[in-house]
Amino acid sequence: MFQKKWIVINLLYHLKSDSDLKKYLVCKSCNTENPLFAYTCKECNAFLRSKIPNIDFWEIISLLLESPVIAAEKIIQSDHKNYVIVLSIIAGLKISLIGWVINNAFSLSNALSINFLLSIIFGFSGFFIGMIFLSLLATVVSRYFVIQTRFKDFYSIYIYSFVPIIALFLLLTPVQIALFGTYWFTFNPSPFIIKNLPSYVIVVIEGLFFLWSFILTVAVNYTQIRRYIASLILTLIEWIILGSIIILGQYFLHIAN
Ligand SMILES: [Zn+2]
Repeated sequence: MFQKKWIVINLLYHLKSDSDLKKYLVCKSCNTENPLFAYTCKECNAFLRSKIPNIDFWEIISLLLESPVIAAEKIIQSDHKNYVIVLSIIAGLKISLIGWVINNAFSLSNALSINFLLSIIFGFSGFFIGMIFLSLLATVVSRYFVIQTRFKDFYSIYIYSFVPIIALFLLLTPVQIALFGTYWFTFNPSPFIIKNLPSYVIVVIEGLFFLWSFILTVAVNYTQIRRYIASLILTLIEWIILGSIIILGQYFLHIAN
């Protein structure tokens, strides 16, 4: 255990000297470097950028497609983090649903008659606790790199990086229900036995959208900490933590039933 910790510290030490750094908001009047979220210079109070009062939802969606780093910058610099709560709820629903399906599909426990509502509530709280924890973790990591960041900015950019997962819930979940009814979710019987090809197609689509969301998370982390490898490692760790919270939560809920 000690040795593992040492490797991580060593790796972080080397990442700290990455050469791919881009300067943050540099003040035109006094050359001071300011945090990405800053509106006025901390040294001389000069204005650093134009004010962004609200998030323009459709602009951010199209920016997430063409330039996720700029999308994340705009979210960070917006005074009000619009739609973040609604998006959190939909992402939380989809992710708890996936946790439930995985649990049923791999029969992590044989209690298939588990209470669906309880399971979703459990997954949902796990998602929120997980997201708060990840945003705190990220602010600590950025402090390690001597970068000033805010908790609410991390939370907002993470939720926006789940837009592909939110799209899955809005577009693919109705298709799953139409094609398979409830057995896509309960795996009783397995949808792969009943409609083999459509099942694989759906799994591949879900996989691709999750991959896309993962890449967005790397991009939004990069926006804050400006290091490629560190952003990738941080995202990996974060996804493992979030996944574990959701899956383990479901697993223990099954056992408790
Ligand atoms: Zn200044």
